[in-house]
Amino acid sequence: MDTLHTYDVLVIGGGGAGLMAALHAAPRARTAVISKLYPLRSHTGAAQGGIGAALGNVEEDRWEWHAYDTVKGSDYLGDQDAIDFMCKEAVQSVYDLEHFGLPFSRTPDGRIAQRPFGGHTNNETGKPVRRSCYAADRTGHMILQTLYQQCIKNEITFYDEFQVVDLLLVDGRAAGVVAVELASGELHTFRARAVIFATGGHGRMWEITSNAYSFTGDGPAVLLRRGLPVEDMEFFQFHPTGIYKLGILITEAVRGEGGILLNSKGERFMEKYAPKIKDLASRDVVSRAIYLETRAGNDINGQRYMLLDVRPETVNRYAALDGRTRPDGSPYVVSAEEILSKIPDIADFCRTYLGVDPVKQPIPIQPTAHYAMGGIPTSIRGEVLADETGRVVPGLYAAGECACVSVHGANRLGTNSLVDLIVFGKHAGLNAADFAASADLPPLPENPQAFAGHQLAALRGGSGKERAAQIGREMRALMFDEVGVFRTEQGLEKAVETLQDLRRRFTDIRVGDAGKAYNTALLNAWELGNLLDLALVTARAALARRESRGAHARDDYPARDDQNWLKHSLAWLDEAGQVHLKYKPVTITHYTPKERTY
Ligand SMILES: Cc1cc2nc3c(=O)[nH]c(=O)nc-3n(C[C@H](O)[C@H](O)[C@H](O)COP(=O)(O)OP(=O)(O)OC[C@H]3O[C@@H](n4cnc5c(N)ncnc54)[C@H](O)[C@@H]3O)c2cc1C
Repeated sequence: MDTLHTYDVLVIGGGGAGLMAALHAAPRARTAVISKLYPLRSHTGAAQGGIGAALGNVEEDRWEWHAYDTVKGSDYLGDQDAIDFMCKEAVQSVYDLEHFGLPFSRTPDGRIAQRPFGGHTNNETGKPVRRSCYAADRTGHMILQTLYQQCIKNEITFYDEFQVVDLLLVDGRAAGVVAVELASGELHTFRARAVIFATGGHGRMWEITSNAYSFTGDGPAVLLRRGLPVEDMEFFQFHPTGIYKLGILITEAVRGEGGILLNSKGERFMEKYAPKIKDLASRDVVSRAIYLETRAGNDINGQRYMLLDVRPETVNRYAALDGRTRPDGSPYVVSAEEILSKIPDIADFCRTYLGVDPVKQPIPIQPTAHYAMGGIPTSIRGEVLADETGRVVPGLYAAGECACVSVHGANRLGTNSLVDLIVFGKHAGLNAADFAASADLPPLPENPQAFAGHQLAALRGGSGKERAAQIGREMRALMFDEVGVFRTEQGLEKAVETLQDLRRRFTDIRVGDAGKAYNTALLNAWELGNLLDLALVTARAALARRESRGAHARDDYPARDDQNWLKHSLAWLDEAGQVHLKYKPVTITHYTPKERTY
């Protein structure tokens, strides 16, 4: 196979954001998607609960309410112009998915069904609103299948099982990427007028996580190594309901359908922490409540977990207490069959991994590392930004979980990632194609594969004193203990120091497998290097931020501090392993920061 390829637009990543970008770039630009996984294995396929859009199909709703909820959910760190844009565009984007053939669950009269989700409210009553559009508990799976079929129909070129390990920049402009072909181990150079990164998240740096093994932050790490910054890395969301010990996600939709969180005393503890919307408060609030209940000794059997109870008798009892009704005004009373029909995959997970039938027994849960609010800084148009002044890197775009627009600020609302993929994936694709139409093909740098080759050679040629698996274990435990739901100065200092040390030890590993074909040991080690870099930046940015906001909760600085910290962080990592932080203002249009209560 020839190892030099030329395109107008290259999309790195075959998940929801990447496929959406490719679909919208392809009509006007020669487009290829490069993906380390076969695209249908992307993490988007794991998304369960739904995609938020104010369709108002089952009750009154408005995109402005969606925008306000998102701003509030973000703890006022989200950029309000971008949030307005996303929530407005969400409505048409969901209809576009429907027209692409996505099999949404339906209302009895045939419209797209909608259900409540954490933090999404009717702004007038403050009560939960049904805004999440879903296909049972397989929404992401359906999105991925639908978009992939559209890409095939539109004859988009795919390089499956090619892992991008470097970005090529010429005079500060994107010129292409270098990728390893997994089957042969060969390096390939891809030349392009525009490059879009859509490589997903980096939750594998924590011990308990809902994230796929592939979530190793390759995109942001590659850009960091090329001297570009990452934004708001201190904000990483812990989802309150991961399966105990395993971290596998139990979607918020279980609470949307009426599931209740209980402590060891059988108390519905969320009443204390969010008197208005209780179990459907935003994720940061619920995760912290679980942690505080644990600290107060109210965890189950002293084992640091709580129970999520979705048995019909429990759901119906609390629904009656809350005065919950169906859209037609009748009382909300459910049967086991109805619950199971809404969450079939979750029920399977519980049976398979816990031996628990969720309509007969409560589910043991604990917070699980879930979603990266931070990532590659971009404009509303998906352009990658090089610094705190908003300077654009010509020809370089990013979208999806690897990007930070920022619409999620300090905490993302459930259902808003899928919206982000669809809206900003589309616009990154359109804008990259526009750019490519008027830009000439940049020259390749001299010896384009040198930097990538050097990184991989170092992993093959280390002293061999250290084991990648051991370093990975230590990193994940450290991040979970010290850079988790609650953080302190002391813990974060320890994390920064230990991560520096782990990065030093990392240079001493030698990958045992000397082969070329499918050398996953080599690529896993390279991915561990990415996680270590991003973990260091995360801990360092968290240490600097002396306040609590959204998912970043400091025990020693419990209050939000708008005076000093209503700003985004940007972090650079230099060759000596030092992190440099700068800040830029949050865009505030019409929602003045207020105290957040649920
Ligand atoms: C269990 C779970 C449930 C969720 N449920 C919901 C939900 O109900 N609603 C919601 O809004 N959000 C949900 N989320 C979040 C949401 O699913 C993700 O944020 C989103 O799918 C990420 O999409 P993406 O396109 O950015 O990345 P992905 O879908 O993960 O795609 C990343 C792509 O990048 C490729 N890639 C990565 N690195 C490289 C590289 N070096 N070279 C080449 N290719 C590379 C991969 O092969 C993959 O194709 C959930 C997340 C999880 C983990």
